[in-house]
Amino acid sequence: MIKNIKDIDIANKKVFIRCDFNVPKDEFGNIVDDRRIREALPTIKYCLDRDCKIILASHFERPTPGQYEPKYSLQAVSIRLKKLLNHNVVQAKDVVGDDAKKCISNMKKGDIVLLENLRFHEGETSNDDDFATELSKFADVYINDAFGATHRKHASIYALGLKFDENSRAGGFLITKEINFFCKVIEEPVRPFIAVVGGSKVSGKLQALESLIDKVDKVIIGGGMAFTFLKSLGHEVGNSLVEDDLIEDAKKIMTKAKAKGVKFYLPVDVVLAPEFSANTLIKNLPIQEIPKDWMGLDIGPASMMLFREALDDAQTIIWNGPMGVYEIPKFSKGSIKMSHCIAESHATTVVGGGDTADVTARAGDIDEMSFVSTGGGASLRLIEGKEMPGIDILRIKE
Ligand code: AMP
Repeated sequence: MIKNIKDIDIANKKVFIRCDFNVPKDEFGNIVDDRRIREALPTIKYCLDRDCKIILASHFERPTPGQYEPKYSLQAVSIRLKKLLNHNVVQAKDVVGDDAKKCISNMKKGDIVLLENLRFHEGETSNDDDFATELSKFADVYINDAFGATHRKHASIYALGLKFDENSRAGGFLITKEINFFCKVIEEPVRPFIAVVGGSKVSGKLQALESLIDKVDKVIIGGGMAFTFLKSLGHEVGNSLVEDDLIEDAKKIMTKAKAKGVKFYLPVDVVLAPEFSANTLIKNLPIQEIPKDWMGLDIGPASMMLFREALDDAQTIIWNGPMGVYEIPKFSKGSIKMSHCIAESHATTVVGGGDTADVTARAGDIDEMSFVSTGGGASLRLIEGKEMPGIDILRIKE
C-alpha cells in the first residue's frame, strides 16, 4: 500500500508532480500516442480543483545528460497538455535554471508550469542530491505519478521524494491504479493464469519469466526470444535473433516450468525472411525446417492456432512483448492476431509494455483489454517482486 494524494493535505499548496510524459513521437516530432499524458490528467485536475500551484516534471527519451537538445524538449507535450486540460500550461526553458525559477515565482493559484526534460540536467539519472534539493525548493508537496519510471533510482523519483516528509509525499492516481491492479492480478489471479511473453530478447525478461513460472499455469513464448528457447532444444534457427549466452538459462526456465507443472508453449512455425527489410520475400515454415541463412521474424499461423487453443480456458492473461517485428506489416500478423485473441477472451487481460500497448492500439483492441499499463519495464519489475525505489519511498508504514 502506498500513500495516495487523497491521504495528504494539498489545498492551496505548491505541488510538484513527477509525471511520465515519455510519449512516442513520429519522425516529424508529432506525438503519435498521448495515452501517458491523458493518464496524468486525473491527478493534475485534482490539484487544480484544490487551487494548487502545479509544477510538472518528466523525462523524455535519453538526451546526453547535462545537454539541451531541442528534439528532446517537452514543448510538444505542454502544447498537448494545454489542449487536453483546456487550461494554460507554461513551458519553462530549463529544469532548475533561471527561467524555471522565474516561471515558478510568477505562479498564481491554479497555474501550471512544466519544467524542461529532467534529463537535460546531469543530476537526474545519477540521483544527485544537490539537484534534488534544487527541485525540492519549488514545492511544498511531492507527488509521484510516473509509474513507468518508478523502477529507476533517479533524482526526481527517489532523492527528491526523500526531501519531503511522509505527510508531504504521495502517489498520484495513475501510480496507485497501476500498483493496485498489478498486485491484485499477480497475488490473487483467477486461474488458469497465462503469461504471453514476446519481444526481442530473453535477457530483458529473464528474471520476470523466472518469477512468472512461480505464479502462472501456462507460459506462451513468441517474438525474437523464442529462438533462444528453440535453439536450446536443438533446432536450427538460421539467422534468427539468438542470445547464445542465455541458452542454458532458457533450458533452466523450461526445466523449472516442467517441475512446477507449468505448461510451456513455443511457436511451431515461423514467418521467415532472408533479410530484415520491409520489401523482402517471405515464407512460412515449420520450426523443423528453418533454412540456415533465413531469419524468423514472426510466429506463423499454426503457432497462432496452438496459442489460441492454449488461451481458450484462460481467466487471467498477462501479455508483455509482441510476437514478431510488428512495426513491419509483413511481420505483424502474429502480434495482431494475438491481440485479437486476447481481447476476445473472457479473461482479465493485462497488457504491459509500450510496444505491446502499441500493437493492441494498431489492432483496434486497446479498449477491449481490462488494463493497459503505462510502464513496460516498471510492470516487469513489479512482477519480479524487485525493489522499486519510487514506490518504496511512498509505502505506508504498517
Ligand atoms: P521488447 O522491447 O523486448 O518487448 O521488444 C520489442 C521489439 O521486439 C519490437 O520492436 C519487435 O520488432 C522486436 N521483435 C519481435 N519479434 C522479433 C523477432 N523475431 N526478431 C527480431 N526482433 C523481434
